[in-house]
Amino acid sequence: MTRPIQATISSANMRHNLEQVARRLQYFRDESGIQGPDSQIFAVVKANAYGHGLATAVQAFAQADGLSVIEIEALSRLRELGWQKSLLLLEGFFEAADIQVLDRTRAITAVHNFEQIQQLAQAQVQHPIQVFLKINSGMNRLGFVAKNVDRAYQQLQQLQNQGQVQLLGFMSHFANADAQLQAIAEPWALLQKITDDYDDMLCICNSAAILRHPQCSALQKANIVRPGICLYGSSPMGMLEHETAADYGLKPAMSLKAKIIEIQEVDAGQSVGYGSTFTAQHKSKIAVVACGYADGYPRSAANGTPVVVNGVRAAIAGRVSMDMLTIDVTHIADVQLGDWVYLWGENGPSIDEVAAHSGRISYEILCALANRVPRVYE
Ligand SMILES: *Cc1c(COP(=O)(O)O)cnc(C)c1O
Repeated sequence: MTRPIQATISSANMRHNLEQVARRLQYFRDESGIQGPDSQIFAVVKANAYGHGLATAVQAFAQADGLSVIEIEALSRLRELGWQKSLLLLEGFFEAADIQVLDRTRAITAVHNFEQIQQLAQAQVQHPIQVFLKINSGMNRLGFVAKNVDRAYQQLQQLQNQGQVQLLGFMSHFANADAQLQAIAEPWALLQKITDDYDDMLCICNSAAILRHPQCSALQKANIVRPGICLYGSSPMGMLEHETAADYGLKPAMSLKAKIIEIQEVDAGQSVGYGSTFTAQHKSKIAVVACGYADGYPRSAANGTPVVVNGVRAAIAGRVSMDMLTIDVTHIADVQLGDWVYLWGENGPSIDEVAAHSGRISYEILCALANRVPRVYE
């Protein structure tokens, strides 16, 4: 028997979330009266589809126009899994040998420095390598700064003339699309200034930009958007009022539950768990649950982090340990050994709620679900 803990991955909800994104993009376009081509959606499935599994993602996102990853090896894996549409390598390639993988899998890559252009020039390829020129719009991680964009563009165009590359357009990544609503104005103005002279395609929107910055996705130009976290049922704005996953009509893709394996009666003044961080104020009933930080539940989850038992909310009481966590179920009369405790997702609190109580973001928690947790795919 495996431990009584289970993660459920819902490809139906992933499909639903993709449809929500498509509907939203369509709505923006209709609202702004844009006549240009439809946005293409390249679902982001890096980090093993944010912990949900590539095989599930290939099925659930079958309607997407492309899939985006960071890991070179994921390109081949996605082709093996039967994905025939576009693939995008978000962070570009790391060494010349990677260009062979791009050639074999016919994947598109970001190009963010002159060294990569050099490597593309020297590569022996069967087909032109499709590239996006990545612009640094203020994140200051990857991408050409404004003054180098023209030079990079010209070099890539030259390689295009030689049949080495096919230059699709410009890509960029916003640093603050999830923060204050104005935070995008400056990078967006910069991107417009740089790209206005070109007819090329743009590829600029993550989940936050798609959900709250319609001007960046409802364009006259051809446009590819790159939603990640929202496809897994979490809001990049976390628990921000009116901007939760539920407010955006998103449904949880991953749900985690574990069973109660012990129930303790503790008297007022007694403490629970390592470090005695929870002390009972009155006679209390504490349930011990078969899930700990080695399963991926955040150890930083504070006292008060919500869970759901028998349809009733309860809260973490005491420090999360490696294999167990403890919850206060004093107010739930019918709690028994073997009852399921819903930790996040369907029937439980949202992943964003758990993240907020843990000083984490949903991305970290979803990606960290441990291998030892049995998965059920629905
Ligand atoms: C991860 C990533 C995304 C998706 O971001 P979300 O916030 O999950 O939507 C988009 N673009 C790039 C370049 C990324 O690395």
